[in-house]
Amino acid sequence: MSVAAFDDDPRVVERLVGQLPSSSARTQDTFAPFTGQTIAAVPVSTADEVEEVVAQARAAQPSWATTALEERARILLDFHDLVLDRQSDILDLIQEESGKARKHAFEEVAHVAMTARYYGLTAARHLGPDRRIGAFPGFTKVLVNRVPKGVVGIISPWNYPFTMGISDGLPALLAGNVVVHRPDTQTALSALVGVELLREAGLPDDVWRPVCGPGPVVGTALVGAVDYVCFTGSTRTGRTVATQAAARLVGASLELGGKNPMLICADASLSRAAEGAVRGCFSSAGQLCVSMERLYVADEIYERFVERFLHRVSGMKVAGDRDFDTDMGSLISQLQLATVTEHVEDAVAKGATVLAGGRARPDLGPLFFEPTVLSGVTPAMTCYGTETFGPVVSIYRFHDEAEAVERANASSYGLNASIFSRDLPRARRLAAQVRCGTVNINEAYAASFASIDSPMGGMGQSGLGRRQGAEGIHRFTDPQAVATQRGLRFAAMPGLSDRAYAKLMTASLRGLKKLGRP
Ligand code: NAD
Repeated sequence: MSVAAFDDDPRVVERLVGQLPSSSARTQDTFAPFTGQTIAAVPVSTADEVEEVVAQARAAQPSWATTALEERARILLDFHDLVLDRQSDILDLIQEESGKARKHAFEEVAHVAMTARYYGLTAARHLGPDRRIGAFPGFTKVLVNRVPKGVVGIISPWNYPFTMGISDGLPALLAGNVVVHRPDTQTALSALVGVELLREAGLPDDVWRPVCGPGPVVGTALVGAVDYVCFTGSTRTGRTVATQAAARLVGASLELGGKNPMLICADASLSRAAEGAVRGCFSSAGQLCVSMERLYVADEIYERFVERFLHRVSGMKVAGDRDFDTDMGSLISQLQLATVTEHVEDAVAKGATVLAGGRARPDLGPLFFEPTVLSGVTPAMTCYGTETFGPVVSIYRFHDEAEAVERANASSYGLNASIFSRDLPRARRLAAQVRCGTVNINEAYAASFASIDSPMGGMGQSGLGRRQGAEGIHRFTDPQAVATQRGLRFAAMPGLSDRAYAKLMTASLRGLKKLGRP
């Protein structure tokens, strides 16, 4: 079955939304940001329906958890191939729903494929059982099992609609969980195509169940029913989700907002830094959690860097088309356009200088806004410390690197940072001082994002827990330590008093330390 050019065939949309439960008969219309035209009427669930879906998924979990790990991994690896084979249709869907440029939609396809390959090929390494040090060498053997949580609830946002939910769910599946996934309704099709391809790769239907509907209704019902919550979205909603999960004593990982800094040191390659800054600030029109909204540039190179950066920004192709060479697409919604406009107008009214962009572009489509560079931004302006989540970056100078680190850290967020310098040992030393979950050296965000073996997530108000790597799969399991004792007992053996046993133990403990045994 092909995903198929959905704009030529309305049955594609019908087939995709057909995977959603629809007992309430209510729907929400979604629209194309490039044109404002309606795309689909997406069935939305009630809270009761979400509970039913969770119950159905729960019933499927034991048999999925006992499916051989090799078979679970095989499904991920076949899914990898399907995603790459059908990428053209997937890119069309992502662009249609999110309004992003094709090259940015491709980042999602690549990220899903990388995640499927990584976890598909490392399943046994991560899921053990894992040998640990026993109390007494030779007498105590400890193995740690990874027990699936059960039903994992995923709430994913609209900005990376294909990869955010799907890539989080892949390790959850591999670990023996079932998934109930609530993608943002506006971008449901991009998530549903992932579910469809997983099923085509062999995943049983009830093992991944999508549901749609308003966050406060469907999201709340989901968090109220599942055994673990994986949420991606804003810090404000993340706090609500965390509070609800905590009251139920279920775990949650939260991937939240950021106000990410880029440091450009005096010895940086200017062309590399300018290229990285353009991608870092304007990928997906800045609606990317790890994108850059603050550029700190060393005094010595400030003018030269700004000139190169602005030259690149002015050469960007902004359009609502399906060409790979388009550099930036549209914002996704009126709400995003209003926030971006408000942040820029507020900054300008309070004295900021617009170095590039600064205006909406209704001539390109209803939700376009120019890539915008501001200088002279002060703490009195909203965009100084508040996440814009749009194509707006503020540029500042710094005198020395200690000051740059201090200013990078002067934020309650701590998601991603970037450092450009030719002196790699020094850049790594600076990185260690920056309070962010990922730091990219001579790259904006893609080096860490695409290194699936490394953990990704935020410090401070940017979140809890990590996706990717061992951390990204272990969060969906409870570790269970199974300790087997042979020979030696943890009590006085026959004929030995408790006092003598305590003495013998004391001597053994001293001996183990002397031998350097942990
Ligand atoms: P949001 O918090 O408003 O919404 C996120 C999702 O949660 C939406 O689908 C929403 O409907 C749902 N929701 C709303 N109320 C809910 C509730 N009470 N319970 C459960 N779910 C509820 O965020 P947004 O504006 O859609 O997304 C943009 C934000 O997400 C930005 O702040 C961005 O930085 C962040 N984000 C972070 C990452 C990351 O990996 N750290 C990735 C993408 C986006």
